[in-house]
Amino acid sequence: MTLTPIARHSTVPVHVGGILVGGGAPIVVQSMTNTDTTDVGSTVAQVAELARAGSELVRITVNTESAARAVPLIREALDAQGIGVPLIGDFHFNGHRLLTDYPECAEALAKYRINPGNVGRGEKRDSQFATMIEIACRYDRPVRIGVNWGSLDPELIARLMDENARLPNPRDADEVMREAMVTSAVESARRAEQLGLGRDRILLSCKMSGVQDLIAVYRALAARCDYALHLGLTEAGLGSKGIVASTAALAVLLQEGIGDTIRISLTPAPGESRTREVIVAQEILQTMGLRSFAPMVTACPGCGRTTSTLFQELAQDIQDYLRDQMPIWREEYPGVESMQVAIMGCVVNGPGESKHANIGISLPGTGERPSAPVYVDGEKVATLKGPQIAEEFTRMVEAYVQSRYRRPASPSGSATAPGP
Ligand code: SF4
Repeated sequence: MTLTPIARHSTVPVHVGGILVGGGAPIVVQSMTNTDTTDVGSTVAQVAELARAGSELVRITVNTESAARAVPLIREALDAQGIGVPLIGDFHFNGHRLLTDYPECAEALAKYRINPGNVGRGEKRDSQFATMIEIACRYDRPVRIGVNWGSLDPELIARLMDENARLPNPRDADEVMREAMVTSAVESARRAEQLGLGRDRILLSCKMSGVQDLIAVYRALAARCDYALHLGLTEAGLGSKGIVASTAALAVLLQEGIGDTIRISLTPAPGESRTREVIVAQEILQTMGLRSFAPMVTACPGCGRTTSTLFQELAQDIQDYLRDQMPIWREEYPGVESMQVAIMGCVVNGPGESKHANIGISLPGTGERPSAPVYVDGEKVATLKGPQIAEEFTRMVEAYVQSRYRRPASPSGSATAPGP
């Protein structure tokens, strides 16, 4: 797939662990655990699962002294497994105290999330915010100033509402709330800079749960500053609603160059893997042509010409197989993430779509001859028949990957380093 170059609005890249965010770097996928951070084993397992699925940053809740004590243990256990994914600490209310009292926690985290609406009230707000920024400076860590619609600073809202009421033509309350979101983020960032934190150590977010609200707020934020932006629709919800709402909002903004790292806040069904949010984030970026993460399967929706479920099952099996292989393929077959595979249900669009893919199969529709032509790089190379079509096609995909994407051997016989 050819990637779509879209200039990003942020100008200053931020280093988070070893990951570059903003300033034109590829848009970073991140996620958040939902385990109890004090349960070190479960948290390590979930972080590892998220990282293996492709999450490039993982945020964990740090809400209590026990959670702060657990953070370095989690970092240590991940390192022991060779999982270097940077951990971000999510702080509310008591972050100033936890970061002060638990320096090993401060050190183990690659970034601190500060919510200006939850950092304290009155005079305490400024001093507690300052404490967190001072600690970020001391450990040379970036912060995300993460404003959230559900926990907006009430003193700021009151101030802006008062100012608005004095205007000759006051704006409506929703508009003032959106303005408060942006003001909270930008004023907090400026304050952090005054306290000594570099511009290259600050990310901003203004999360809302309404699609149009989020678009309006991020446009305003991007117009007012050029900090790296963390983008996400908060409380997006369950199932397809959460995915559709997140995609609708993020696609508009990403297309305008707004957003440097994304998180999809899905509510998992009971027992559902947390990795869904990572896969959805990757699929948004990949279907928009902004980044490639895993080979994509093009499959037709099926219609009255397909009375069997063969092509649906094959499309699902191949999609699962491709994703399962990616932790290995990523290392061994550079470029495989851009591969296109077509699984089509009949002769109407099957051969044409298959020819456009790297490898594609056109399965027989109802009443068609029970054979399935396979196309590789636009040429018909085989016709599969019988009950083993799925297995044979999977083997052909594997063979194609090995021949097309194998890393060339270096003159010394060892594999060469991956490209940029
Ligand atoms: S390719 Fe064939 S089976 Fe698939 S939707 Fe089109 S007409 Fe129907």
